[in-house]
Amino acid sequence: MGRRQLWRKVSSIPLVTYFKPAGSRMAELEEVCLLVEEAEAIRLKDLEKLEQETCAQKMNISRSTFSRLLGSARQKMADALLNGKAIRIEGGNFEMAVRRFRCLKGHEWEVPFETMISAPPENCPECDTPSIMPLFPPGLHRGGHGRGRHFGGGLSE
Ligand SMILES: [Zn+2]
Repeated sequence: MGRRQLWRKVSSIPLVTYFKPAGSRMAELEEVCLLVEEAEAIRLKDLEKLEQETCAQKMNISRSTFSRLLGSARQKMADALLNGKAIRIEGGNFEMAVRRFRCLKGHEWEVPFETMISAPPENCPECDTPSIMPLFPPGLHRGGHGRGRHFGGGLSE
């Protein structure tokens, strides 16, 4: 059908991506998988206490999509907490709101989401070398290159 994939804007990725109940053995543990954008929805709404409208704008998605994300995130967290399951945070369709780059010589700089969409960097702003690479947050080294990493799974618009 060629439905356009929408990238959710995520401004932070949780540093800890795995939680498990104390004392449980991994082998007998059930897991819920929280998508990175679901974690972001929880962060914006429940930690930063922003209005849904604002959250949706920050993530570049519609309000109804945001509310669906938030709902599934809360449901998964409740399931894990009350049923003693582990939580793994991964996957989904998202784009970092700010992407860090590093060049061959070690200069690092940040590129805002809007710039990534319109004109992704080709050269280092300091030394002009074209040998640059995006820096991924810890634990998220999978995925493709450039704009629009796709970690599989996730919700489609
Ligand atoms: Zn440089």
